[in-house]
Amino acid sequence: MAKKQFKAESKRLLELMINSIYTQREIFVRELISNASDAIDKIYYKALSDDNLVFNKEDYYITVTADKDNRTLTISDTGIGMTKEDLENNLGIIAKSGSLAFKNENEAQDGHNIIGQFGVGFYSAFMVADRISVITKALGSDEAFKWESTGADGYTIAAGEKDSVGTDIILHIKENTEEDSYDEYLEEYRLKSIIKKYSDFIRFPIKMGEETV
Ligand code: ADP
Ligand code: MG
Repeated sequence: MAKKQFKAESKRLLELMINSIYTQREIFVRELISNASDAIDKIYYKALSDDNLVFNKEDYYITVTADKDNRTLTISDTGIGMTKEDLENNLGIIAKSGSLAFKNENEAQDGHNIIGQFGVGFYSAFMVADRISVITKALGSDEAFKWESTGADGYTIAAGEKDSVGTDIILHIKENTEEDSYDEYLEEYRLKSIIKKYSDFIRFPIKMGEETV
């Protein structure tokens, strides 16, 4: 499958993030949970004006699952999902807010400052993952898609398999190196504390294992 290339500025930011020695890597959790929450909000607001859509509160939640054996961290939501076009338009380019901030900033800024000041959304996950798979099914669609990327070299989109509407973001957590360990992002207690620190205000349940964080 041919790889599609990221837009130039996304590529630059991605490279900065992948290579930066970043002390606040943990913020990727906040970014992915806020996207999951936004995706549920989109259904919520749609339901307000659409009589055919009922928002049953108990159907909307975020799930965080760490799998040490497979070295994956999955953040799933029952939100609005993405069509193939959404995947192209939203994950193929850097978030508007992020890109604007990036452009307005001095070119010499390092990755730390850019991330610290503005938050760069989805791409922040590449600080801890060497591959990201997004499996998603949009509201009103019966097709699911799988977006996959190993970072700055581009991404692929293929048919995917998913029964329910929503999105699974699967992070393939980096292997440890001599300088860096990424194991903490597969530890439930560590993930819980990050969620409590940054995502306390999220108004949908965040589930981990049997409990709601
Ligand atoms: P921002 O949230 O500031 O728009 P992000 O980089 O965090 O920037 O996300 C880019 C876009 O990708 C979002 O605006 C949204 O359209 C889409 N997206 C990301 N995660 C999800 C998700 N879990 N469900 C649906 N859409 C998503
Ligand atoms: Mg975001």
